[in-house]
Amino acid sequence: MHFADSITDLIGDTPLVRLHRVTDDIACTVLVKLEYLNPGGSAKDRIAERIIDAAEKAGHLQPGGTIVEPTSGNTGVGLALVAQQRGYRCVFVVPDKVGTDKIDVLRAYGADVVVTPTSVPADSPESYYSVSDRLAREIPGAFKPNQYENPNGPRSHYETTGPEIWRDTDGTITHFVAGVGTGGTITGTGRYLREVSGDAVRIVGVDPEGSVYSGGTGRPYLVEGVGEDIWPGAYDPAVPHEIVAVSDAEAFAMTRRLAREEGILVGGSSGMAVVGALRVARALPAEAVMVVLLPDGGRGYLGKIFNDGWMRSYGFSAVEAGETVADVLA
Ligand code: PMP
Repeated sequence: MHFADSITDLIGDTPLVRLHRVTDDIACTVLVKLEYLNPGGSAKDRIAERIIDAAEKAGHLQPGGTIVEPTSGNTGVGLALVAQQRGYRCVFVVPDKVGTDKIDVLRAYGADVVVTPTSVPADSPESYYSVSDRLAREIPGAFKPNQYENPNGPRSHYETTGPEIWRDTDGTITHFVAGVGTGGTITGTGRYLREVSGDAVRIVGVDPEGSVYSGGTGRPYLVEGVGEDIWPGAYDPAVPHEIVAVSDAEAFAMTRRLAREEGILVGGSSGMAVVGALRVARALPAEAVMVVLLPDGGRGYLGKIFNDGWMRSYGFSAVEAGETVADVLA
């Protein structure tokens, strides 16, 4: 018999697949790592498990405790999965730009969800950072994982994502590309790949135009899960060699192309990462091997990026049914 003892035993060991169609003008190998195949549907399952393990060991999380976290959804799902297995309650705080589909998923796992306005500064008492701080103070036995500062986030990627990529490429990887949100993925995976390769792997971060990592001031963008208006502790700016900024329009057009042309249904931050990756890949020789991490699946975005009416309402009128997305990018 071949089975896992618990759903959390299925976290990690996600596959790599080669891109063929969106890479028409590119000589090198471009592989994407499909994090939506984690049981909770995103890369965040990895950090959730590592963070809860560490909190239990440190005594921050006791039997019957409550996990309180500001999360755009994916970290919540990961935490909810692991919490459920171990008997903890979850309260999640999400900004109102997050799709209702994602919020419904959190509630389906049994979590409580508090929705806060996106259009307030981070230090406002209404911001999702502030609301979650207050809940963590007021709920007895509460533990706040704080994915933005918790070193176990990047550590989980250092211990799992990085070694998986090195193993699956037989050590031939030359470039690693990932979107930057908390910075945990790029910091942990990038650090491992730099170390194991004797600094031969080039690490490329991708963020939305306007976000701080590429020199912006936190101007709003619609792509979810990536970009920040403050610098989190989970991000080590010494790890990436470069940061590429990508517009919402380019990110969303590529997200739709990945589904229609590659059969890969992923979220907007995945499309964003691929746009940044291809920009770098265009200048690379045939021998280069690039790995791009795709953080989550596309089902949480059917009412947004994949919905023509929603796209048009935000002025992305070029990407509509009837017009091929290749035309839009041309
Ligand atoms: N994409 C999505 C959809 C995410 O939820 C996140 C996590 N915030 C990221 C990308 C970025 O990952 P990280 O926080 O590790 O930088």
